[in-house]
Amino acid sequence: ANPLRTARRRRDADTPPDDTPRGVLDVRGLTVDFGDQRVVKGVDLHIDDGEVLALVGESGSGKSVTALSVVGLLPPDAVGGGSVRFDGRELTGLNFSQWREYRGRRIAVILQDPSTTLNPVLTIATQFKDSMRLAGPLPADHRDRIVALLDGVAIKDPARLLDSYPHQLSGGMRQRIAIALAMVHDPDLIIADEPTTALDVTVQAQVMSTLALARERTGAAMLFITHDLSLVAGIADQVAVMRAGEVVEHADVDTVFYRPRHEYTRSLLALAP
Ligand code: ADP
Ligand code: MG
Repeated sequence: ANPLRTARRRRDADTPPDDTPRGVLDVRGLTVDFGDQRVVKGVDLHIDDGEVLALVGESGSGKSVTALSVVGLLPPDAVGGGSVRFDGRELTGLNFSQWREYRGRRIAVILQDPSTTLNPVLTIATQFKDSMRLAGPLPADHRDRIVALLDGVAIKDPARLLDSYPHQLSGGMRQRIAIALAMVHDPDLIIADEPTTALDVTVQAQVMSTLALARERTGAAMLFITHDLSLVAGIADQVAVMRAGEVVEHADVDTVFYRPRHEYTRSLLALAP
């Protein structure tokens, strides 16, 4: 946890006093239904300030749906119950304009496919400027700030890239830009859903270390979602194991790797390379 960040957030005048242990994210009893199919079944998750929680599980176990509920991107009638608290405040039921304070600003999202984060018809510079405008008028030094953000994700000669379109860049480059874009507002929480799964194996490690460094620099908390257990040890403080819509184990990374309680976790570990 980053004490400076905690102090900064606690000063927010509009944050309600609350004596429950809140952390940056606290999900309780979340259920999600698509039609008559329940795909998330009473999920509890907790992330403290500045911590990284890895949410792991096989494809189809409900990880992405859980993540979408934290950024308000599920159809309202799909959320069957439970609470999603960010910094102590309930997010379920917020309306569109209330969401503007959170999604893309206090909560940043990086998805598996950078083309869902980046807009194909806008230049890289325009996308950063559009994001910056969420917080008010464009700052005079915006160009320098964009270059610094791109520099922060190990992009060489970033100024050269500002007028490019996403399709002119490689997948790894696009994902690094998506990470830089996530950092524009110095978020309290980053949600990274399979951020390297769509990339060539050779660039996966580069993108992982870029993400880890960018997060460390800002001290943001992160919900890191992956089906790949081999990515978890290097980045996570806590691990939640999801299976068929339920969290079957939620503990610190050493416990999950060396003293897993649940038989399903043991079977996942046995399969991991
Ligand atoms: P994961 O990210 O762990 O691979 P998902 O959260 O994407 O899994 O999906 C969990 C389950 O919910 C799957 O059975 C999937 O088919 C179903 N699902 C996801 N999104 C939708 C949707 N929009 N409509 C209907 N079913 C969905
Ligand atoms: Mg998924």
